[in-house]
Amino acid sequence: MSEALMGVYNRAPLEVERGNGMWLHTRDGRTFLDCVAGIATNCLGHAHPRLVAALEEQARKLWHVSNIFRIPGQEELAARLVGATFADAVFFGNSGSEAVECALKAARRYHAVNGAPERIDIVGFAGSFHGRTYAAVNASGNPAYLDGFGPRLPGYVQLTIDDRAAIDEAVRRPTTAAVIVEPVQGEGGARALDGEWLSWLRRLCDAHGVLLIHDEVQSGMGRTGRLFAHQWFDGAEPDIMAVAKALGGGFPIGACLATAAVAGAMTVGAHGSTFGGNPLAMAVGIAAFDEIAREETLANVRAASDRLTTGLRDLVARFPDVAIDVRGKGLLIGIRMVPNNREIMALARDHGLLVAGGGENCIRLLPPLTITLDEADEVLRRIEATFAAARVRFAAAA
Ligand SMILES: *Cc1c(COP(=O)(O)O)cnc(C)c1O
Repeated sequence: MSEALMGVYNRAPLEVERGNGMWLHTRDGRTFLDCVAGIATNCLGHAHPRLVAALEEQARKLWHVSNIFRIPGQEELAARLVGATFADAVFFGNSGSEAVECALKAARRYHAVNGAPERIDIVGFAGSFHGRTYAAVNASGNPAYLDGFGPRLPGYVQLTIDDRAAIDEAVRRPTTAAVIVEPVQGEGGARALDGEWLSWLRRLCDAHGVLLIHDEVQSGMGRTGRLFAHQWFDGAEPDIMAVAKALGGGFPIGACLATAAVAGAMTVGAHGSTFGGNPLAMAVGIAAFDEIAREETLANVRAASDRLTTGLRDLVARFPDVAIDVRGKGLLIGIRMVPNNREIMALARDHGLLVAGGGENCIRLLPPLTITLDEADEVLRRIEATFAAARVRFAAAA
């Protein structure tokens, strides 16, 4: 590993050179089935022809101009996002953290301009992940991401999903601005929240004038088989939503979506970004949106998800000494492991399969939304071989 890089990552020893659909090829000639997909970003697979064409065409015209000018691509992609969601307006950044940052700022600003500047508290949940900026790590409250960076920011409250009494109490407080939640917790280990809980939270926020923020950075853009995960449920729509990861199909884009009431508080000068929403990002984002939002794509997610989860449940039943359960939603799938998940990830690599890690000792499968049923079967075969190897290795170690 290069000493010229900050050592903040635990990198797998693979030098990937080229990707094609859900396959990755390394410099030393090995081929892997990719169930990481750039952590749920390369949602249409690697080198998707339509995205490549959009990028190449725009690259010859104009990359970047600054938000002091009109950017037609932003207006187009925003119109698509607004047309497909609860939202009335969009702000574009470059990442999930920036989308979350904008969401948190917009929530506080909304109350400030509506005569309640004392409403600053953001309620977040254990097991969540919202990114790595100061606001995002404080909102998620994960001590591993907060330690050594000075005092925690004021105005962040940490609760657990299951403690409805504490949530109820927090939302009633006159200093609460917003609640932020991932409808499907991603990094936390593919924990899908149910519709009853999400709509209960929506009603609670409404009753007390508190804003609801959904972080759909990972669960959004088709990942669960609907364009956004909360759209599976009635009465669960947020006031503000952070979107990124798959939004650019692998190109860095983030977006904060909001209702007109919230967006109205974000007046000239309230927020900004140098690169956010530049023409290159928007050209790719529009192409990605149009592919992802096709009913065929979303139907494929649901079919592939059924195939994978059925097969995985069967494997868990056959390998109870290796895997505990299967959870998640759509193609955001977690498998809780008995052995350390990092060891399973390495064993999976030995079997030509790339998977991500997750909280609660999960391995996470985030294949592209375009995975075929044959590829899903191949994923299952490789997981079976991985579990069989794990059984031998960890039985020998015990
Ligand atoms: C990945 C992720 C983020 C952070 O996105 P970055 O692009 O890494 O800043 C925020 N929220 C959720 C739910 C994520 O999965």
